[in-house]
Amino acid sequence: MDFNNIFSEIYNEIKAIPSKGSVAQYIPELALVDPEKFGVSLVNLDGEKFHFGNAQEKFSIQSIAKVLSLTMAYEIQGEKLWERVGVEPSGTAFNSLVQLEYEKGIPRNPFINAGALVIADILVSELKNPKKEFLDFVNQLCHTKVAYSPQVAASEKSCAYVNTALINLMKSFGNIKNDINEVMDFYFHLCSIEMTCEELSQTFLFLANDGVCALSQKVIVDQSKSKRINSIMQLCGFYDEAGEFSFKVGLPGKSGVGGGIVVVRPHEFSMAVWSPRLNAKGNSFLGTKFLELFTTKIDYSIF
Ligand code: GLN
Repeated sequence: MDFNNIFSEIYNEIKAIPSKGSVAQYIPELALVDPEKFGVSLVNLDGEKFHFGNAQEKFSIQSIAKVLSLTMAYEIQGEKLWERVGVEPSGTAFNSLVQLEYEKGIPRNPFINAGALVIADILVSELKNPKKEFLDFVNQLCHTKVAYSPQVAASEKSCAYVNTALINLMKSFGNIKNDINEVMDFYFHLCSIEMTCEELSQTFLFLANDGVCALSQKVIVDQSKSKRINSIMQLCGFYDEAGEFSFKVGLPGKSGVGGGIVVVRPHEFSMAVWSPRLNAKGNSFLGTKFLELFTTKIDYSIF
């Protein structure tokens, strides 16, 4: 398949679309990113790579990192993990507080902020040096050296009013075991990881390969866990837009407020798109459009 031609054809189509959303403002450092950036990268299980636009430029992966922290925590704790976080779509915004009170501090899923904070708490309990060990875990998947952005982590911490509310509420229900500041510091760091589209698509390829890292052949998670992580991405990866994303794109995936989206087609490829302007649901506006046209034109959804 000549993906290079398909990528530029689709980009030419979507760049003419007038309403393109706006760059995330609530994390001051993210508001500084050039909204015109656009990159795509696809890596398949035959080892082929296809890139378009700013595919080699680093950006803040934000909530996309929640899939990787879930993967690490799930591998450590197994099914016990689901006592503290659910697997249901929330139908609410990524940072919503509303369900947490009446569901007694148990977040609907690991990809809304509340759920990702519980996963961060689990990793703080399980790891001796969470920041270092998490980064080592990510680096073995992408086969390059990626890093946290101390500026982005500090910037998010400076305005963390909603996440502070979420974690305090969960602490009051006993679903956060460690010191709140320690958990939040770890959470802000994992969200601040910077990657290129190429690194991101390479990192997620294990989820297209039944949990096995395609380059090293190391088992990251077993087949059942890999399948389940993909199913949570399918149902919860885009918050209150998960249904629409599934309807239009039809691949499991995860977005971040840095404008990145990663999707996986099991047994074939993983693909990352980056365009910083977000729609009202906090997902990349052009990234979503691009993926919709991509899976539609070449009939590439999982359905
Ligand atoms: N770090 C961001 C937050 O906690 C992540 C949100 C996102 O990417 N959807 O708000």
